[in-house]
Amino acid sequence: MMKDLRSLTYEQLCEEVKAMGQPSFRAKQIYSWLHEKRAEDYSEMSNLPAALREKLSSEYALAKVSIERRMVSKIDGTVKYLFRLEDGEHVEGVRMAYKRGGSLCISTQCGCRMGCTFCASTLTGLCRNLTPSEMLSEVYLAAKDAEEHGEKIASLVLMGIGEPLDNFDNVMDFLTILSSDNGFNLGMRHISLSTCGLVDKIYKLAERKLQLTLSVSLHAPNDEIRRRTMPVAKRWPIDELIKACRDYFDITGRRISFEYALIDGVNDQPEHAMELIKLLKGMGAHVNLIPVNKVNETGYKRGKRESVEAFAKLLNDNGQNATIRRELGSDINAACGQLRRSTIKTEKGGTLSE
Ligand code: SF4
Repeated sequence: MMKDLRSLTYEQLCEEVKAMGQPSFRAKQIYSWLHEKRAEDYSEMSNLPAALREKLSSEYALAKVSIERRMVSKIDGTVKYLFRLEDGEHVEGVRMAYKRGGSLCISTQCGCRMGCTFCASTLTGLCRNLTPSEMLSEVYLAAKDAEEHGEKIASLVLMGIGEPLDNFDNVMDFLTILSSDNGFNLGMRHISLSTCGLVDKIYKLAERKLQLTLSVSLHAPNDEIRRRTMPVAKRWPIDELIKACRDYFDITGRRISFEYALIDGVNDQPEHAMELIKLLKGMGAHVNLIPVNKVNETGYKRGKRESVEAFAKLLNDNGQNATIRRELGSDINAACGQLRRSTIKTEKGGTLSE
């Protein structure tokens, strides 16, 4: 398989350029074309000699990703992208407008093998990992779209399709490139990485001491409930997961954010709130409550607004910081995996503007 130069960190690119027998300043030029100017083809690199452009075009890949569908929520302007990869697979991204700037959520894998029962992304299993180049393309295409609409991407969330830590090396290279000051230059503090709780990989990530926010999908206060919705909990019991999170906080100094999708009648009762408070005590963590999105295949329902608010109040009244996630893009299936899935099933949405 041909190497894709967009997937290489600056150091790796310097090595590659050296191996080509080219002067070292070429690495700087190529990196700038790929990540500052976001070139989509080697032929665009006009300050390189023609012979080198031809060599790059014939000997190196450059992943072709395109926006196949772009949907805008009529309610809140949230933009959802269906990206098409070169091999015909699809992944999704969502761009949300916040007062502090736009936030982009992207996919890290095509499909997912984690099997969470409330999630549409996993219904057809894992197809493959995305390369750093493909993840960067998601960001660059969305950034271009944002700029064309007078907007900007200020933060990034790895919470789309896939489990980022299941694609560890590619995601690490992607983050290194994205945050490099001679690249897109998005600071790590503006990046959140979401995991369903792969304990071994949480330790591996801690070693990197990145300044990003680790967001752990907990969704239950105990193993009994967690195992019903998240198969990963059979491999990593909740006590081991929470210990890893406490160690992560000690090693990196970064507070963890816990995601908790409230499912009507499953994990949204007052006793669940009390158990959660006990579990997270002393971690200074934040709990993000997400009223679950209805996925037709799972039969889960969201609870009433009052019960969601009561759950949040119970946490906050007992010293556990918690907020309810603002719902965005409810008319465009903004929850991850739903659009790709409906594309697989070749259905079309109803109230979309494209
Ligand atoms: S919630 Fe995340 S980890 Fe779980 S199946 Fe969906 S994409 Fe995978």
